[in-house]
Amino acid sequence: MHYGHELQFGTFITPTNDPPQAAVRLAELAEASGYDLVTFQDHPYQPRFHDTSTLLTWVAARTERVHLAANVANLPLRPPAVLARAAASLDLLSGGRFELGLGAGGFWDAIDAMGGRRLTPGQAVEALSEAIDVIRGVWDQGERARLEVDGEYYHVSGAKRGPAPAHNIPIWIGALKPRMLRLIGRKGDGWLPSLAYLKPGDLAAGNRTIDESALAAGRDPREIRRLVNIGGRFSAGIGGGFLDGPAAQWVEQLLPYVIDDGVGTFILASDDPATMQHFAAEVAPALREAVAQELRHADAANVAETTWVGRSTAVRAKRRAGIDYDALPVALAAHAVEPGDAGYARVKSTYMRGGSPGLVLRPGDAEEVAQAIAFARANPAVPLGVRSGGHGISGRSTNDGGIVIDLGRLDAMEVLDASRRLVRIGAGARWKDVAAFLAPHGWALSSGDYGGVGVGGLATAGGIGWLVREHGLTIDHVRAVELVLADGRIVRADATRNPELFWAVRGAGANVGIVTAFEFEVDEVGDLGFARLTFDASDAAGFLQAWGDWVVDAPRDLTSFLIMGGSRPGEPRVAQVMAAVDSDDPETVLARLQPLAEAAPLIGQDVRITSYRAVISNSDDAAHAAEGEPTARSGLIGRITPEFAHDAARFLDSGATYFFQLRAVGGAVHDVPAEATAFAHRSSEFSVVAFGSSRQQTPERWRELIGPHLDGAYLSFDTEQGDEQVEAAFPPATLARLRAIKAQVDPDNVFRDNANVRPV
Ligand SMILES: Cc1cc2nc3c(=O)[nH]c(=O)nc-3n(C[C@H](O)[C@H](O)[C@H](O)COP(=O)(O)OP(=O)(O)OC[C@H]3O[C@@H](n4cnc5c(N)ncnc54)[C@H](O)[C@@H]3O)c2cc1C
Repeated sequence: MHYGHELQFGTFITPTNDPPQAAVRLAELAEASGYDLVTFQDHPYQPRFHDTSTLLTWVAARTERVHLAANVANLPLRPPAVLARAAASLDLLSGGRFELGLGAGGFWDAIDAMGGRRLTPGQAVEALSEAIDVIRGVWDQGERARLEVDGEYYHVSGAKRGPAPAHNIPIWIGALKPRMLRLIGRKGDGWLPSLAYLKPGDLAAGNRTIDESALAAGRDPREIRRLVNIGGRFSAGIGGGFLDGPAAQWVEQLLPYVIDDGVGTFILASDDPATMQHFAAEVAPALREAVAQELRHADAANVAETTWVGRSTAVRAKRRAGIDYDALPVALAAHAVEPGDAGYARVKSTYMRGGSPGLVLRPGDAEEVAQAIAFARANPAVPLGVRSGGHGISGRSTNDGGIVIDLGRLDAMEVLDASRRLVRIGAGARWKDVAAFLAPHGWALSSGDYGGVGVGGLATAGGIGWLVREHGLTIDHVRAVELVLADGRIVRADATRNPELFWAVRGAGANVGIVTAFEFEVDEVGDLGFARLTFDASDAAGFLQAWGDWVVDAPRDLTSFLIMGGSRPGEPRVAQVMAAVDSDDPETVLARLQPLAEAAPLIGQDVRITSYRAVISNSDDAAHAAEGEPTARSGLIGRITPEFAHDAARFLDSGATYFFQLRAVGGAVHDVPAEATAFAHRSSEFSVVAFGSSRQQTPERWRELIGPHLDGAYLSFDTEQGDEQVEAAFPPATLARLRAIKAQVDPDNVFRDNANVRPV
């Protein structure tokens, strides 16, 4: 029986401590030779052996691609809850390259000598079974309740869960006897015996036992990979015996193990560099080819689907209704994350919003984005979210039970033409990474105030950043996009090709397709002045007026954002002012700041000459873990009038907001004609945003006190999604043009998770 597993090759290296680096060098050689896996035996009682866990960690740091496992970890000396955490940590640190080989014990005198518990074979099976429950329980970070496993051998009471590993770490069990094989069928992900301990027919019999046990437990036998440790010798003459001859003989002798016994992984036990290299160069590719040929001609009844990328029964049990998971193309399935997958906790929510999608697709190129869109269209009953950096406020980019297309893997950056400062940036990149990429060239691209925000969401909407008054919106720097449309076409849109799409994508991009890459013309930006000033704003209206006048009357090299909140009893209300001055001359920077410094008592200040890159490096890479739904309202205004300042102060006093922000949006933004892009409100001076904790009070007070002063909206900051918001963002002529484009390229309204412009 062939189980449909892609054939893999590993090495089985003695973890010898003599000299200390020897095992590490062999592991590096294995990676360089093309092996998929490096394993070390785990006998923590051997006098001249490294501790295998420590060795694996070291090797993980010294390698980049190869997967790693103990062959197999000695459970009696490694408490399972700790083993689970160690495995998850190493998996995360190595980028999903750790697999868990696990053994019940065996050398009981040595285990006993090290303080481990001596068990009978029957007890050891039971203990291993309990340990698997503990390990999987610790990994299950999605489960809120603390872990309880009341076993005979492992009693875990109220253990905290996590971290979840980077990928579904398979548990491969080293075993020979039927009781253990039945346990593999019930709970394991792989069977890992050494061929030297097996008689002819043992593999087939073992497989039968495992398969029957798996089926009885409601599992698919293909969930269980079959691995074997092998050893042998390369020699010139044919006929030396099993795995004792030239490479061609090895291939011939190993082939039946794949075709008849379903072996998916051969692990070569050898510490000899020449043998390792010869096997990788001569046996592995030839065996792969022989297997492929054999499968092409094989009796279909004896051969499962050629590649098994299905999820385990446990993962499938957490699938959501309305999504035909099994119809997912293989390439997408390999990187998709489902609710039962280990990495789900890291992708389900966004920066602002808690979510529980049924499937997160992570395409690796535009073709796969097209496949993802087609898949979403074939599952129309569930919502679709599009995610780049997951910082959407208006855009949902997560949902409950739906599909999310996450572009995080499309984060490549390259310089296309240095003379024009033309760069190509993947939609999944973050702005702090873009800044770091541009900095060595002396360039920058004004984006926003937070480095964690994604390129895709911001550069399709506007982009009000630290250099906006001097260099305009982020969209004003877009020269072309690669865009995947609702019907799966991958198009380029620029000033001459698909100009209508190019117009729409700059301000309303979320409605017309998925941008996979942008071409930006960036600016030369040297060091700049950056100030964080805290003012006593007890006179809120007076301070708003002074700040607004200061910004509008300043040269364009100054851009400033202001944050105010409610005041605490007994403390003055404070205003936080951030300001960038595009000059590395301290005198110029101070001259720009001076007028504001005189407007109100200054209670805190930090002014420095720094780089744009440093300013935007203000986010970490932690996974998003928001819960619930945010409430935010936003709009655009012209100059700050005394009336606005008065009403804004009343709004603050009402307690309707805990975070009230104004961003300068004038200067160079005004230079672009209103009809040039779908972002049409080109005469505004400020964007106003209020976050509140009440879904009733915040919108009501906003409507009453701020609403009358607004003239348009920048949608990115508003959590409301109705027609009113869409009409506020897009003036009538812009909206009519957008609706006509939408009717052409997305008549079925596939892209609707963000301030939806419905097709005419
Ligand atoms: C902490 C924080 C600070 C911010 N600061 C600023 C700021 O200073 N200036 C500013 O202008 N904005 C700012 N924003 C708003 C931000 O620009 C938007 O929320 C933006 O949509 C986030 O982009 P993202 O890719 O991270 O979000 P995501 O949540 O990934 O996407 C948001 C929405 O954008 C659309 N979208 C995403 N990727 C694509 C794509 N590749 N193609 C087509 N549509 C796509 C989708 O509809 C999606 O729902 C800020 C937001 C936060 C949370």
